[in-house]
Amino acid sequence: MTATINQNIALLRKQISSAEQRYQRNSGSVQLIAVSKTQPATKLLEAYNAGQRLFGENYLQEALDKITELKLPDIEWHFIGPIQSNKTRAIATHFDWVHSVDRLKVARRLNEQRPDELAPLNICLQINISAEDSKSGASANEALVLANQISKLPRLALRGLMAIPSHSDNVIEQRKTFSAMRQLFQTLNETLPIQLDTLSMGMSGDMDAAIAEGTTMVRIGTGIFGARQTP
Ligand SMILES: *Cc1c(COP(=O)(O)O)cnc(C)c1O
Repeated sequence: MTATINQNIALLRKQISSAEQRYQRNSGSVQLIAVSKTQPATKLLEAYNAGQRLFGENYLQEALDKITELKLPDIEWHFIGPIQSNKTRAIATHFDWVHSVDRLKVARRLNEQRPDELAPLNICLQINISAEDSKSGASANEALVLANQISKLPRLALRGLMAIPSHSDNVIEQRKTFSAMRQLFQTLNETLPIQLDTLSMGMSGDMDAAIAEGTTMVRIGTGIFGARQTP
């Protein structure tokens, strides 16, 4: 029998807390985001009933359908997919966090469109840390200027950096990439007028390496819900 969502979440919590200890991280310093793209609302509800409250979605329309269907006020919704600039209003209205901001135009629109009655929208700047042509994300060189500009937008709260490294099964390689992210994070914190507190990195295949290198939010899909159907 395959493990249930409930069992997967319990196992992940154990793995996260054991990695926190192993790498001298504070207990509870790594948050778990359940990446629920392509999963039906019933599966999210199973995760919710296992105590999961942070959910990450990649595709706007699919996410809006689930947000409306579930209507659970204590879920924190994280948008982690590529952003088309004509879709920013719905993202600014329905999400608590956006991890995939990689250009000023999108940040400005989110800032203008964040409803007044809501708290500032939490933002991570996505970094193309493996410098792949195919991937979205700002280059590490652009990060300082961009972070400075975004930090001045009043309806956004710039919280940190996010990365989706190129795939590697080699733990040394994984750690090298995450270490580069941690160094960029430190440099920004020494330079910016604000303090960043979030490193969004680590997925099902490289979570342990990300925790070793200082992640504060791991984004796990397969490890919770099993393999995704290819659409
Ligand atoms: C799909 C996705 C994940 C989760 O990947 P898994 O390998 O299924 O854990 C994390 N982050 C982003 C940005 C994703 O698109």
